[in-house]
Amino acid sequence: MFFKALCRISKQTVAKSLAQSSRCLSLSATNNKKVAVLGASGGIGQPLSLLLKQNPGVTELALYDIMHTPGVAADLSHIDTPAKVTGHMGEDEIADCLKGADIVIMPAGVPRKPGMTRDDLFNTNASIVAGLSKACATHCPSAFLGIISNPVNSTVPIASEIYKKAGVYNPNRIFGITSLDIVRANAFIAEARGLNVSTINVPVIGGHAGITIIPVISRCSPKVSFEGDELKAMTERIQDAGTEVVKAKDGAGSATLSMAYAGARFANSLLDALAGKEGVVECAFVRSDVASVPYFSTQLLLGPEGVEKNLGLGELSDYEKQLVDNCIPELEKSIAKGEKFAASF
Ligand code: NAD
Repeated sequence: MFFKALCRISKQTVAKSLAQSSRCLSLSATNNKKVAVLGASGGIGQPLSLLLKQNPGVTELALYDIMHTPGVAADLSHIDTPAKVTGHMGEDEIADCLKGADIVIMPAGVPRKPGMTRDDLFNTNASIVAGLSKACATHCPSAFLGIISNPVNSTVPIASEIYKKAGVYNPNRIFGITSLDIVRANAFIAEARGLNVSTINVPVIGGHAGITIIPVISRCSPKVSFEGDELKAMTERIQDAGTEVVKAKDGAGSATLSMAYAGARFANSLLDALAGKEGVVECAFVRSDVASVPYFSTQLLLGPEGVEKNLGLGELSDYEKQLVDNCIPELEKSIAKGEKFAASF
């Protein structure tokens, strides 16, 4: 009887400590940070907030949207992880959401429907991003800002111009989140070559729309070989992967779950960098002088002040060099469109 009871207790203790240690192992070790999510009630915002709630380094998770945030916040607040969750709804409550934030992640705005390009979202999302950026520039000007809202190739220049107007611009702290392109490239290449996906890393540079998405398969780690038609097909699959999801969802939106995963990966890397972890490298669309356009995505070494070092284009194959040349006119147009919009906002 006593032995049975003892076994039961020790089983429970082991199960609990395993659960706790697996939680700690799978999450980044960072401390005492406030993260705000703008657009937190949406298809991306909700699962992204769920993933951020699981990072023990987040002590406050502030959720903002124009609808449903009290419910999303109440729901997440019942999860037994340290982050205190607060919900903020409507413009009157955005200041409280942003004050003291170390990181702001912005998935606010409308997603694509079948037949739409990311640029078709510009008319709606440009003003949403400009308005939210203005609030960030006012209430948490030195927080890292990660923008998910599309078209990223225009929304990052919009936010940057808004910060400039407010006199608080620091190019090392504003990021267009392109991590989903890297996540997809890793998944597709691992699948095609039968490799362990957790060991794969494919840099993806350029921008975040169609031909501006440039997977650098020649620098995939571990090395893989793709040539000719197979290389072209893999590159195009990565470039069009968002459209694959938009078509499959058939009017119900674009990538939300994979984007939440990719957004959390990027936010967790920012948290690691803020906590002083060394060697944190992510690709993101940032102000840059590595190409002939003022914003470009490349691998970035991240540190407590944001971009510590832009690792540049690096070595590219002739095929990849051609992709870079081909994407410049489209990037130029999208960037100029964003800057022009912000000038009149
Ligand atoms: P969604 O419509 O499900 O959610 C958007 C949320 O934004 C909604 O809850 C809405 O209420 C909120 N919102 C609208 N205006 C707002 C405002 N002024 N302030 C605060 N919140 C506001 O859309 P989704 O599927 O979550 O996609 C969001 C954005 O992310 C879209 O622009 C989409 O194109 C983009 N996206 C980017 C990537 C990427 O790789 N960067 C990938 C997928 C989707």
